[in-house]
Amino acid sequence: MAKRGMLFVISGPAGAGKSEIVKTLLKKHPDVRLSVSCTTRAPREGEINGVHYHFVTEERFDELIREDAFYEWAHVHQNRYGTLKDVVRQELNEGNDLILEIDVQGCQQVLQHDPDAVGIFVSPPSRENLETRLRHRGTETEESIRVRLNNVAGEVATAYSYNYVIIHQDWSVVPDALEIAVEEVYSIIRAKRCELKNRRDFLDQLSAELRAD
Ligand code: 5GP
Repeated sequence: MAKRGMLFVISGPAGAGKSEIVKTLLKKHPDVRLSVSCTTRAPREGEINGVHYHFVTEERFDELIREDAFYEWAHVHQNRYGTLKDVVRQELNEGNDLILEIDVQGCQQVLQHDPDAVGIFVSPPSRENLETRLRHRGTETEESIRVRLNNVAGEVATAYSYNYVIIHQDWSVVPDALEIAVEEVYSIIRAKRCELKNRRDFLDQLSAELRAD
């Protein structure tokens, strides 16, 4: 039987650095894939349709909900974001290990419905650090920084339902904080690949070969 891929859901508060971790992970480890989400928010400078997101209208998003096209979707900071079922199905069927980099509400939906999905929570080391990261990003208005910080306490409360927690340290304190976080995520992926349930087919085949004569 062909090997099915595994689903890794990476989430955590905005500004904890999850997209930076995922971007670096994909560059360093091309054996891991990322699902491109749909969103109703406008593209930021440099963002490409179909690469960073599928940018869709509110009407198109409604249509996709009606068509039951989403694996999960959520309202995040006044916009809607969703993962397409087709993307997840196709990647896993092709044997690819797939990352969803999504908000905590979407992650809760996935973890509740798919017991095989692996939840990885990316946490900032402190509130102060999170606030500094959001400001340095330069893409947020003061109002949106305030909205995002208000949501963080609730988001951290959901971390207890994940399988793993990555603490993304402050790079001014730990200079290679990003590399450490990336390798921690990749270590989880590698360890999951070695789990007995993913090695059963191999062991069955090896046992059969050994018993052949
Ligand atoms: P941004 O607008 O900064 O790219 O993303 C805002 C938030 O939406 C981030 O927390 C990001 O992880 C989340 N997000 C991106 N794609 C999806 C998705 O498909 N589903 C859900 N639930 N959240 C998403």
